[in-house]
Amino acid sequence: MNPADLPPELGRPAEALLASVRAIAQGPLAAQAQAIDRGAYPADVLRQLAAAGAMSAHLAQPDGTPGDYGLAIRAMAEASRVCGATGFMMWCQAVAGLYLQASGNPALVGDRLARHVGGQTLGGTGLSNPMKSFAQIEALLLKATPVEGGYLVNGTLPWVSNLAADHYFGAIAAVQAPGEGAGREVMFMLRCDAPGITLKACPAFSGMEGTGTYSVHCKDLFVGAGDTVADPARPFIARVRGGFVLLQCGIAAGVIQGAIDSMWAVEGQLGHVNQFLEDRPADLQAELDGLLARVMALAETPWDTTTDYFIDVLDARAHGAELALRAANSALLHQGARGYLMQSEVQRRVREAQFVAIVTPAIKHLRKEIARLSAEEMPA
Ligand SMILES: Cc1cc2nc3c(=O)[nH]c(=O)nc-3n(C[C@H](O)[C@H](O)[C@H](O)COP(=O)(O)OP(=O)(O)OC[C@H]3O[C@@H](n4cnc5c(N)ncnc54)[C@H](O)[C@@H]3O)c2cc1C
Repeated sequence: MNPADLPPELGRPAEALLASVRAIAQGPLAAQAQAIDRGAYPADVLRQLAAAGAMSAHLAQPDGTPGDYGLAIRAMAEASRVCGATGFMMWCQAVAGLYLQASGNPALVGDRLARHVGGQTLGGTGLSNPMKSFAQIEALLLKATPVEGGYLVNGTLPWVSNLAADHYFGAIAAVQAPGEGAGREVMFMLRCDAPGITLKACPAFSGMEGTGTYSVHCKDLFVGAGDTVADPARPFIARVRGGFVLLQCGIAAGVIQGAIDSMWAVEGQLGHVNQFLEDRPADLQAELDGLLARVMALAETPWDTTTDYFIDVLDARAHGAELALRAANSALLHQGARGYLMQSEVQRRVREAQFVAIVTPAIKHLRKEIARLSAEEMPA
C-alpha cells in the first residue's frame, strides 16, 4: 500500500516512520548485517528502530488511536530487506509489546509498556512450543503448579530469541491442578533475571546467530499477578493469534524484496544469460506485490477471531515462506559465484529464507492447521 492511500491523519506519520526505518536499515543496520549473521546481537540498532516507532505501530496509541498492523509489517519489511535476522527480532519485540498491551494488566501496561515501546527494554516470545501444542504437534514444555499468590513454573524452552540477561518474553505453562483447574494454561511475562531462570547458549545455527537466542531453564520460577498476561491463556491466544502470525509476513516480504534487489543488481551484466532462469525478478515482484496487497487487507482487521480469517492469515504466511524460499534460491542462481561468497548477502538470505520457513508456524505446521481448521469449517 502506498502511504498516500492511508487516511490523511495517518499518512504523514506513516511516511515519516518508514523513512526513518529505511535510513536505519540502509545505514547502521547494513553496516552490521554480516556481523549479526556471525553472532553480534544488534542492541543499538534495535533501540533505534524502537525509538523510530518501528515495533509499536501496531499498538493502540495512548490517545486511543487503534494500532496500524499494515504499517508495522511494512516497517519490518524495510529492515528485513537488509537483514532478516533483525527483522525477526523486530517481530519478537513487536509481539512482546502486543502481549503487554493486550493483557490489560495494570502492572504490564503503563510504564512497563512505555519502556518497551521506546526500546529502553527489549523482549521476545516463547510461544513456538504452545502454538505447536495447541496444533497437537508437541506437548507443553513448561508446567505451572499453583501456590499462594501465583504459580511455580518448571521446565525448559529450547530456543527463545531477542534475549539477554535483563530481557523478558511471553511464555505459557500448563497448570498442574486437579479438578476445575485441570487442562488450563497460564500466560505470563518471564523475566530473564528472575530467581530460578538460567539462559544457556544454543548450539551454533546455520543462520540467525545474532538473534540473542538461548535455551531458557526454569526451576521453581515464581509467577505472580504482576507478570500474568492471561489466566486462562487460550481465550487470549484466540484474540492475538491473527496479529501474531500476520506480523511475520513483514519478515518474509523483506527477505523476498532483498532477493529481488540482488537479481536486478546483476541484470546489466548477466541478464543475457539469466533470462533463461525461472523466477525472474519482475515475475517475483508481481507475486510479492499481490501477496502484500492481500496482507495489507488482512492487516485492517487483526482482531477478527473467525476461523475463516485465521485460515486466510495462515495461507498468506505460508505463501510468504514459500515465496521467500523461491526468491532467495533464484537470487543465488542469478548471482552465481559472487552470490556464493561467504560475505555475500545472497547466500545469507538463503539461510534467512529457510528460517522464515521453519520458524513457528513452520510451513508444515501452517499446512496442518489450514487442513484441520478447513475440515472444522466443512458442513457435516
Ligand atoms: C534460530 C532460532 C530461533 C528461534 N527463536 C524462537 C523464539 O524466539 N521463540 C520460540 O518460541 N521459538 C523459537 N524458535 C523455535 C522455532 O520457532 C521452531 O519451533 C523450531 O524451529 C522447530 O519448529 P518445527 O515446527 O520445525 O519443529 P520440528 O523441529 O520439526 O520438531 C520439533 C520437535 O523436535 C525435537 N527436536 C528439535 N531439535 C532437536 C534436536 N536437536 N535433537 C533432538 N530433538 C530435537 C523437539 O523436541 C520437538 O519436539 C527458534 C528456532 C531457531 C532455530
